[in-house]
Amino acid sequence: LEKAHVQFRSTMPLSIIQYPHPTLRVRSKPIRRVDQELRDLVAQMLELMYQAEGVGLAANQVNVPLRLFVANPSGQPDEGEELVLINPELERPKGNETSQEGCLSLPGLYGQVKRPKSVRVSAYDLSGNPIERVVDGFLARVIQHENDHINGVLFFDRMSNESRRDLDERLAEMETVFRSKQNAGGISEDAQLIADLDSWYDKYC
Ligand code: ZN
Repeated sequence: LEKAHVQFRSTMPLSIIQYPHPTLRVRSKPIRRVDQELRDLVAQMLELMYQAEGVGLAANQVNVPLRLFVANPSGQPDEGEELVLINPELERPKGNETSQEGCLSLPGLYGQVKRPKSVRVSAYDLSGNPIERVVDGFLARVIQHENDHINGVLFFDRMSNESRRDLDERLAEMETVFRSKQNAGGISEDAQLIADLDSWYDKYC
């Protein structure tokens, strides 16, 4: 049974989960080991991110509850800087800037989000090398948005009540669509979706 499950998981095409999938609200757990399956997962996440014309993608957006995200502020596979951050920690936030954000798990929704302008990032790459740097501007925004994901936070959580109100209708629509898929049996119930995450914790945490 376990072997069949692993087989299924590794051959299943990865897809981006959408709001209000409960894994988006999970506080992801630190990664204790990196293996070929995890490296393959990262490669697939990058591919998905570029296909979706995104600039960042967190592991829990592909239903993997581990502290990991990928980013490339250029959004192009052969341009800019491709980042894979494992167990990231953000410190020393400085300044403030408000700018528009969107999210691959909330297609078509955009809003103004206020965030620190620069932040210090500590993380590991896929080879276990430490990454330590201060980022600012758009890259800092991308990294903070993705780091929020692995803590179960979505960009609209950080919007003012006033601008959030513009999104309420569309969020309610997405909830209706998701719940009706669950009622029709096309998506498991929330409790099952959360229980399914245990195999990732068993393997990497
Ligand atoms: Zn996002």
